[in-house]
Amino acid sequence: MKYLKLLTLLAFISVNLNAQKSYLENNNPENDVYVIKNVNVIPMTENNKVIENATVVIHNKKIQSINDFIPTNAITIDGTGKWLIPGLIDMHVHNLADGPYISYPTRGPAIHFDTQNFMTLYVANGVTTVFELSARAEHIGQRNEIIRGDVIGPKIALAALIDGNNANMTATTPYDGRQTVRLAKGEGYEFIKVYSQLNKETFKAIIDEAEKQKMKVVGHIPNKFKNNTEEAIVPHFGLVAHAEEFSKQTDILTYEEAERFAKMCKKNDTWLIPNLSNLVSIAKQARSLDSVQNLESFKYVHPLMQSKWLVSNQYNQGTNAERIAYFDELVDFHIKIVKAFKKEGVHLLAGTDAGTSGIVWGFSLHNELKLLTEAGLKNEEALASATRLAAEWLEIDDKIGTIETGKFADLVLLDKNPLENINNTSKISGVFVNGKWLDKSTINTMLTKLAKWNNDNKGKYNWKEVIKKIRDNK
Ligand SMILES: [Zn+2]
Repeated sequence: MKYLKLLTLLAFISVNLNAQKSYLENNNPENDVYVIKNVNVIPMTENNKVIENATVVIHNKKIQSINDFIPTNAITIDGTGKWLIPGLIDMHVHNLADGPYISYPTRGPAIHFDTQNFMTLYVANGVTTVFELSARAEHIGQRNEIIRGDVIGPKIALAALIDGNNANMTATTPYDGRQTVRLAKGEGYEFIKVYSQLNKETFKAIIDEAEKQKMKVVGHIPNKFKNNTEEAIVPHFGLVAHAEEFSKQTDILTYEEAERFAKMCKKNDTWLIPNLSNLVSIAKQARSLDSVQNLESFKYVHPLMQSKWLVSNQYNQGTNAERIAYFDELVDFHIKIVKAFKKEGVHLLAGTDAGTSGIVWGFSLHNELKLLTEAGLKNEEALASATRLAAEWLEIDDKIGTIETGKFADLVLLDKNPLENINNTSKISGVFVNGKWLDKSTINTMLTKLAKWNNDNKGKYNWKEVIKKIRDNK
């Protein structure tokens, strides 16, 4: 009897393994071997010597070799005249995920987002890793979909946000601050994001507890530290999420003030995401929403967000000349910050705040790189901010961020050299995401399908109607 049960169990397992195996064979890239021939490799290692006319072999999700033996069964990609860079990393995003919720048991989210449609925005742009800076349980679910191979998407690092009020995780005392960090760790988030409304004592306790829990801290500088910023910039506060965090700390928007902040950060090894694209876009939105609806990438934005960005736009509503001038002044100060931080040798990372109005996931990273170079970074430095350095901050630089044997095959094949012109990062010929090859025509098909779905479903996603429905509990 026991034996029979065991046989049944084994049969059950084998059926399921077979089902899984055939699924893997159909969908998983592990079985394919690729070789990119005659390609110019920009490795983005520290010395970053371009390897001309190289042969790169990709197998089992990894870069198997550079200029070595080519397996006979390899699928060839012609890299003649093309340039290979590591997959790009956006260090500041807010991903669309299911929700918000209606308040009766069993109801679940009122809105669902198709994870593949959403992640297409990243992979189509060569963005193969993102840092989610207000992570929720749903983002863990999205990441699982990608890891299972159900969805082609980037690697996702998750930071749980803790604020002094109005957040999923709120803390107003050092005790609660510490407890919240431990809770975030237990729930599976890897990083802590501190936010604007934390009081000083709670902020300090969070930083201290996060260090004990081996969780790096990214985030805002709480408003309470205004004019005492040096109290907030401490060694375990590893990364400031916007240049704007510094402009909120002072009323003096000069280069000298930027230098003072840069020195503080240098001393404590606190890195910075300048996030120029967001404020540049805000200054434009304050003038006119044409800057949003005329974006070439607008058609790829989910219709609910298209609607929100236009009908509920906090930068455009009640706009006036004075506010526009203030935003312009801020943009100017943030450029000074980039210059001063570069001069002091503070590491700068590329991050877009994608998901805020006008900042389209994936597409916006190319714009951020361009703005960083306009603010004084060399093309190579801008690229490093979205590859090697970002991987280093996330402490996964042994896995991604450069093109080296043994690293994950997250790669972008470009038609032109981005070291000559940073705009060439968007001249994409194909993308490897975790060893899976998406050529230009596949990417175009994915984008066309997405734009069509968005357009066909526009009527269902009027922001004001959707919000009313949720409030009315329907
Ligand atoms: Zn943000």
